[in-house]
Amino acid sequence: MTSLSAAGSHVGKVRSNNQDSGYAGEHLFVVADGMGGHAGGDVASALAIQSIAHVDRDYTSAADAVEALRSALLEANQELAETVYEHPELAGMGTTVSGFVRIGDRLALAHIGDSRIYRWRNGVITQVTKDHTFVQRLVDSGRITAEEAAVHPRRSVLMRVLGDVDLTPEIDVEVLDTRPGDRWVLCSDGLSGYVTEQRVGELLDENPDAAAAVEALIEESLDHGAPDNVTVVIVGIDESPTSSVGTPVMVGSAAKPLTYSASSAKRGMARLPSLLLHPLSATTAPADEHFEPESEEFLRELIAEDARRKVRRRITWSVGVLLVAGLVVTALAAGYQWTQSRYFIGVSDGNVAIFQGVQQGIGPFSLSSVYFESDIAVDELSPFSRERVESTINASDLPDALSIIDRLQSELD
Ligand code: CA
Repeated sequence: MTSLSAAGSHVGKVRSNNQDSGYAGEHLFVVADGMGGHAGGDVASALAIQSIAHVDRDYTSAADAVEALRSALLEANQELAETVYEHPELAGMGTTVSGFVRIGDRLALAHIGDSRIYRWRNGVITQVTKDHTFVQRLVDSGRITAEEAAVHPRRSVLMRVLGDVDLTPEIDVEVLDTRPGDRWVLCSDGLSGYVTEQRVGELLDENPDAAAAVEALIEESLDHGAPDNVTVVIVGIDESPTSSVGTPVMVGSAAKPLTYSASSAKRGMARLPSLLLHPLSATTAPADEHFEPESEEFLRELIAEDARRKVRRRITWSVGVLLVAGLVVTALAAGYQWTQSRYFIGVSDGNVAIFQGVQQGIGPFSLSSVYFESDIAVDELSPFSRERVESTINASDLPDALSIIDRLQSELD
């Protein structure tokens, strides 16, 4: 008897642990690809799957199923945040989740991250989810092509996941139609990153039995070296109202007991919103696998870009400061030059003298100097003239100053 639906997960040829999880039940089918340092990734995907599994029941409408699925994902997100709060060593863990509930000829779908759901209909395979990746954004904005994205060095940088980072992550939800003959493939990037869409379609074509198809797809990824964990869930649609696998199965990390130790120190204050307390998990060491180092690299790129902008701003600012300083110096020079075109009469060493400049100084700096000292002793002047000279007499120019000296001299003659 051929199976309609099936699930399988493989650690791959490079990784030491399987951080993927999968679920195939009666109405609900999900894959989750965990990430995060140390034990984090497998915990994240397993917790998410276990927290979502209760959605596997009958719904009266696709809208109800969508709502149930969406709130289950948000609850899973909250549970991940709380788990990180109680087990700080798990900080930075996260997981993708892509799944759907089948309600007859409708699929209520929810998706976050870069795991994928494909529809295979009449031999044509179509990706129905959109990767929440950095490279997908580059594709969307027309900066690179889908072909370039597939080999981009930063193709695994995720923009959205469930985890301890965002309290209300943005989850894609959608209702799709389905009909007998359709087959749906849910997979982690351990498959989609190494096996082309076209090849996935061919293998579905060659393997009408779901369990055999799951095996063939995982084999294909292993043939390509399988550097990552590989998880595949296949859901076949026939005339029956569900695509049940019989007894629900969990695969990958969700199939095993959680690996973080219950003995790890719990924090004293229970159930505080951890997101508020350590929103960025800044104290954790970088993970030993793809998510964190890559996203840090991405952050570094953003930071570098920001720094470049700052340098540009600083240059603009510096040029501005120099321009202003230049203007000030020019103005001061012009001002000083103007003061040096001025003359006044005052007293120098008891004698009437002509001063060049202005009486006022700037702080300790004098803006005047003796230009010519006459031999007229101030004491010899009339009290009126003496007082005027002592309080200085402005001259409009040098000839004017000389004529003032002449008039004072004439007083003595
Ligand atoms: Ca992966």
